[in-house]
Parts: sequence; C-alpha cells; structure tokens
Amino acid sequence: MHPLREYDIEFIKLQPGDHEFNYTIDSGFFKLYEQSQVSDGNVNVDITFTKGSNVFDLFFVIFGEVEVECDRCLDNFRLPVEGNFNLMVKITEREAEDEDDIIYLSPHEHKINVAQFIYDTVMLAIPIKKTCDMAGKICNPAATEKITGSIDVSIENEESGEEDSKEEINPEWEKQLKNIFKN
Ligand SMILES: [Zn+2]
Repeated sequence: MHPLREYDIEFIKLQPGDHEFNYTIDSGFFKLYEQSQVSDGNVNVDITFTKGSNVFDLFFVIFGEVEVECDRCLDNFRLPVEGNFNLMVKITEREAEDEDDIIYLSPHEHKINVAQFIYDTVMLAIPIKKTCDMAGKICNPAATEKITGSIDVSIENEESGEEDSKEEINPEWEKQLKNIFKN
C-alpha cells in the first residue's frame, strides 16, 4: 500500500452528514515530502467531513509540535503549532480550475486524498521567523555569539536604515562634532 493511501477518504461510502476522521502525523509523514522544512513532529489532525449532495465541506484542525531549525542559533527545536483550514469540494460535470480552498471533482470520483491539505495546513501554521523562545527555550549561546550579531544587525538596518542615515547627517550633530574637534 502506498503510504499516502491511508489519507484517502472514500466519500462514496459515507452517508450524508458529518463524519470525523483523525490522524496523527510524525516523521514518517514528513519524510514523504522531500522539500519539507520539517523532518519530525507529532501533530494531531482532526477532520470533520460534512457530506452534502454535491458539495462536501472539510474542516481540518491541527494541533501539536514540529521539529524545525531556529533562525537565530540554527539548533533544532520542537515548535508548538496549531491551525485550521476549510476546504470545499464540489462535484460537478463541468470542467473547473481548482482554487486554494475549493476543489472540483467529477461525479465519477469516489474518493479524495487529504494528505496534501494536512501538510499545507501544518506548513501554514509555521511562522516565517521561528526562534527557540517560541518553545520557551533559550537559544544555544555558543551559536548566537557567532551568528546572531550579524543576522540581527542586518535586519535592523533594513528596517530603520533610512532613519539612521538621516541622523548621521543631522546638522546639529555635525556642528557639535566640529566644536569638539576644534577644542
Ligand atoms: Zn535558537
């Protein structure tokens, strides 16, 4: 059995109404995604599948932790994650382009694989900048001494660079500096 088969939901077998599905994903799941910035973790996934006649509503709720690399000290740490995602599935004869949160299936389909939606929901829950303190930890001091200085300084300069350069040519300061050198 292909490892992702486990994430097939055979909706053809479901009665109309709500159905609950639960998964726990870990390193085995993340290893299936080669590009993943996450190699390990433990995330609980609850899916409420609401089956209507031609429209299904899938509500994903994820909760757990994933192992990621700290952007400051580069140590791995386990980041708490939680999030949700609402997917609509429409059954239609017409050809239609899938959207971010709506997919279209032909009436001949009988199942949907939810692995990619689980993966995307977890990835969306990971902030762009992630640091040890998000897990209540302190960065590895050996690494921060060498690395952070340069990372943080360059970020600060990008944000406040303009103000800094204005201060540098502040005429008041220039006058005072000249006076200092005269004395
Ligand atoms: Zn760190």
